[in-house]
Amino acid sequence: MLKCRICGNSINNELHIAREMVFGLRDEFEYFQCTSCGCLQIKDIPPDVEKYYPPEYYSFEIPEPQRIGLLRDLLKRRRTASLLGQRNVLGWLLGVIYGAPDLPDWLLGSGVQLEHRILDVGSGSGKLLARLRNEGFRELHGVDPFIKSDMIQENGFCICKGELSDIDGQYDVVMLHHSLEHMPDPHLAFRLLGQKLAHNGLVLIRIPVVSSFAWEKYKTSWFKLDAPRHFYLHSYESLCLLARSHGFQVVELRYDSTAKQFWASEQCLEGIHYLADNSYRNDPHNSMFTQAQIDRFEEMAQELNAQRKGDQACFYLRKCS
Ligand SMILES: [Zn+2]
Repeated sequence: MLKCRICGNSINNELHIAREMVFGLRDEFEYFQCTSCGCLQIKDIPPDVEKYYPPEYYSFEIPEPQRIGLLRDLLKRRRTASLLGQRNVLGWLLGVIYGAPDLPDWLLGSGVQLEHRILDVGSGSGKLLARLRNEGFRELHGVDPFIKSDMIQENGFCICKGELSDIDGQYDVVMLHHSLEHMPDPHLAFRLLGQKLAHNGLVLIRIPVVSSFAWEKYKTSWFKLDAPRHFYLHSYESLCLLARSHGFQVVELRYDSTAKQFWASEQCLEGIHYLADNSYRNDPHNSMFTQAQIDRFEEMAQELNAQRKGDQACFYLRKCS
């Protein structure tokens, strides 16, 4: 019986066979899509899933520590504070003269502030945290099960080797950038999020979305299915349902899909895996696409994002009051 592990429905769930197409191993895995909540999920978690995370899958590159002098750090903080909505003339002026701080789009307008304690779950070696540190954030922490050992960064943050359950303390912002879909038990993940989140805290989840044009068009050749590493491909409905069942509500949603949903999926249809020599990723000139096609894919991605049909999104969640 194919019972949905998000909503419990077991009626008419549809089985799909997906292949490993990042490394081109082509091993087959069974997935099924719930007809009630829409979640696409792997039927059985592979017992040997580590073998699908070879060293080249992950960036273990250690970010270059930036040495920022005290004054420069202070000025950068003023500039970032201004962009995040804390009015100050100096910060505003620095932004006009030197340009905006290098902050990711999903952060802007989210309510995240410099003083917030931020936890990045699935942080890898901390590239994103280093970027935030460089723009003035201080209370930064990462956790990742795949790094070799704990890392104390010289420039002011640490990353623990481990799971969310290994982390002590509470955080104002907990971020999961394309990590929730890799976790075998989403209910456990949400229970832990509930424990780690401070009062009035924000959870930010970036994930692939199955209620998308790319899934409708490409089905098991959809690149973001990423068998067998992605265990859960949520629909908008299934993520909201999961969140609600653990006392969270989705307060905002931003779609951020890119041209990759087209070129990587089109390659998959043609049997070209993501890391193949003639993949657009490795060699655009020897790939199956012209630059005009790629530009068109990018335009289409922006259109889909506006229609809420892109294949990935950022969900902003808060605890229900
Ligand atoms: Zn379901």
